[in-house]
Amino acid sequence: MNLLIMGPPGAGKGTQAEVLVKELSITHISTGDMFRSAIKEGTEMGKKAKEYMDRGELVPDEVVVGMVKERLAMSDCARGFLLDGFPRTLPQAEALDDTLKALTIKLDGVINIDVPRERLMARLTGRRICKGCGASYHVLFNPPKNEGKCNSCAGELYQRSDDNEEAVSNRLDIYESQTQPLIDYYVKANLLKNINGDQEIKKVLDDVLVSLKG
Ligand SMILES: [Zn+2]
Repeated sequence: MNLLIMGPPGAGKGTQAEVLVKELSITHISTGDMFRSAIKEGTEMGKKAKEYMDRGELVPDEVVVGMVKERLAMSDCARGFLLDGFPRTLPQAEALDDTLKALTIKLDGVINIDVPRERLMARLTGRRICKGCGASYHVLFNPPKNEGKCNSCAGELYQRSDDNEEAVSNRLDIYESQTQPLIDYYVKANLLKNINGDQEIKKVLDDVLVSLKG
């Protein structure tokens, strides 16, 4: 089974990716990890990527795609893979198609973890940090014993500026505008599996598994 997984910030994509690769015994390729290991191992594309990063520049698509290609050609991908964090844009998706064709790999599905906007807002704006010791809380998932006060040092809790409504809303807008063309692209290719991510982890996994059989 060769899969992609997508989902907005706060949708629990990372968690779902972890349980899914275990369930299907396939290889998890997260682009962050892929970057780090390509650079550490000094692969051809890893060296190129490092040159851009050392100059403080964005790594261009052709290098990222080259890294994905190197990674997909490794033997552990023969049992199947879950690509996570790539592609992010339509040109990357088209380049990925060319790469898969060149490697004679067929994509079996694109999992889109879907969570209503207001739920994402609640998840993403709920983080609170202690002014005293830096401990992290969440008003929904990990609330302090006393509202607004740190459990360990009784320090005052605050919301970081990039966790406020406006910043989070902007982040989600950017994600949506980047991702919509990708979603359309994979709908057209008859690969998109829309999954309700606003459920327990196990239920989300079950829905993914059912969608892959259909
Ligand atoms: Zn504290």
